[in-house]
This record gives sequence, C-alpha cells and structure tokens, in this order.
Amino acid sequence: MEFDLIDRIRARLARRDDVVLGLGDDAALLRPKSGHWLVAACDVLNESIHFSADDPAEAIGHKSAAVNLSDLAAMGAEPAWALLGLSLPDADSAWLDGFLDGFLALSDRHGLRLVGGDTTRGPRSISITVHGWVPEGAALCRSGAQAGDDIWVSGTLGDAAAGLQRAGEGAQADWLRARLQRPTPRVALGMALRGIAHAAIDLSDGLLADLGHVLEASAVGARVEVDGVPTSAAFEACKADPGQRRAWQCAGGDDYELLFTAPRDRRLDVEQLATQQGVPLTRVGVIEAEPGLRPVDAAGQPCVIAARGWQHFAEPT
Ligand code: ADP
Ligand code: MG
Repeated sequence: MEFDLIDRIRARLARRDDVVLGLGDDAALLRPKSGHWLVAACDVLNESIHFSADDPAEAIGHKSAAVNLSDLAAMGAEPAWALLGLSLPDADSAWLDGFLDGFLALSDRHGLRLVGGDTTRGPRSISITVHGWVPEGAALCRSGAQAGDDIWVSGTLGDAAAGLQRAGEGAQADWLRARLQRPTPRVALGMALRGIAHAAIDLSDGLLADLGHVLEASAVGARVEVDGVPTSAAFEACKADPGQRRAWQCAGGDDYELLFTAPRDRRLDVEQLATQQGVPLTRVGVIEAEPGLRPVDAAGQPCVIAARGWQHFAEPT
C-alpha cells in the first residue's frame, strides 16, 4: 500500500539543484550551503491532540508545515528541506492528496523541499523534520536577551485560543478558527531579524510560557504589559471578559507569532521592518536584569494571569 502513496507524493515534487537525490533511495543526498550552519527541527502532530479527526486534510497539511516553518523562522533560518513521517490508519489516497495540497502549497511558498520520509500504518500521526540555513554565527537563540531590550511580538495574540473555544459569531468566528487551523509562519520576518534581534522564540505554548523560556535561557527577567498585547478585530468582537481575554492572549497557545527582544536603539529598524514585511510588530514589555516574569496591567499594577501555557505532561490540578 505505501508504495502507491509514496509514488503519489513523488509525482508532486519538482527538481531542485540542492537535492542530488530525493525520494526513492534508502536516504536522500543533499548539497550543503557553504558558510552556513545547518538548522534542524522536528515537530510531531497527533490526532485528537494537535488536530481533530474531522479537520480537513488540507488544513492538517498546512498546519504541519506551518509549525515546522515557524521553528525555523524563530531561529532566523532560511528553509531548505523536510522529511515527512506519516502514520495513517489506512491507505486513503484522497486524504493524502488533501494533506499534500496544504503541506506542499505552504512549503513551496517558503522554499521548503520535501526530500524523504516514512509511511506506516497506525493511529494518524505526522512527524516532520525540517532543515534550514543561517549564516554562521547569525542564528537567533533564546539565550541572547539582555537587560534593557524591548520585547516585541508579531501579528495578533489569542486568536487561536479563541478559535479553539469556538468563540465569536459568523465570519469573525471563522476567521479565528482559521488562525488556529492555518497559522502563518513568520519566515521572512525571522530572516530579516538577523542582526537586529538579540533573542527570538515562536509562540506555540502562549506568550508568558514562551517568554519564560527566553528569560530562563538568557538568565534575565521581564516586565510585560498584558493589556497592551496586539489584538485582532475578530478577537475584539468576541467581547470576552478581562480574565478570559488575558488567559487567551497570554496563556493560549498555537498563535505561531514570533516573540523577540531587540535593543532600544533599534526601535526604528523594527518599525521599518513591520512596514516592509506587512506584519504588525508591537512592543509588549522590557527585559530587566532581575530574574522573574512580572505581568502588569495598563496602569502598571502587578496582575495575576490565572491560566498557564500549554504543557503536554502537566499534572492535572
Ligand atoms: P525504507 O524501507 O528504506 O525506509 P521506504 O520504502 O520507507 O524505504 O521509502 C522509500 C522512499 O520513499 C525513501 O526515499 C523515503 O524517503 C521516501 N518516502 C517514504 N515515505 C515518505 C513520505 N511520507 N514522504 C516523503 N517521502 C517518503
Ligand atoms: Mg521507510
């Protein structure tokens, strides 16, 4: 069964100079790029956890590519190659074609080429490994934040969490749902932040959880204005109460926006980047020397966010 499926995949791939040998042998043969570091990342998506059984195959394909591209973006990397591990309950070629529609459309847009993988029978699960390039020394790491840096986020936050709860009505509800199912990886932004940002991470687990990772890796602290995070019109239209709103925006995962820190004297450069890239970039706080994460409200008063970020192995409380 899997050979038919593999042939279907291979038939959709164009040749590329950096791929000496793609699908078909025991392994792929790839041409490295001199003067660069190879960046590698892997993400697994399981049915009922990362997507639901009735999500369209095309949306699952899109999201599988997006979450991996987002990891490359957060490193400032240029996408290169992907390996696709597919576990499928049956040889459903219509499902595979739909999955590939979403996966390949987004991959092609970002120059990510599928070069191999594995196909087995089992519960539906998608495991993707991606590779990309950064010029030697130019990667954006979690560990680079410095006291005095501004903290920036791209796009708008909380949309995916609201979409997951099926908040809103009509076209706005659909838009929020699409932010959950079809996230936009900020690949060009990540690459453009090389040389400007000190540290970066993509927002997969929620603003406070992911910022926490940066603070820990950089051995610094931060003050974040939780009511100043960027908000979409569709999110606004849900008219969520303040507690709910903060929980979705600060602790809701799956937004796949970039959070980065940059020195204060680069504000103009960041603002120019927002215009160039056509992506809103908003300052949400500052890095401080004293460790710890200090959320404050619009008046500068400390505030508590009830919900925490997404944790797969968290103990039920
Ligand atoms: P092997 O038995 O050596 O693991 P396979 O029969 O699994 O080989 O795979 C044959 C070829 O098809 C390999 O080049 C592999 O990379 C590719 N391939 C298999 N499954 C996929 C997939 N889901 N996506 C992309 N390439 C795949
Ligand atoms: Mg195999």
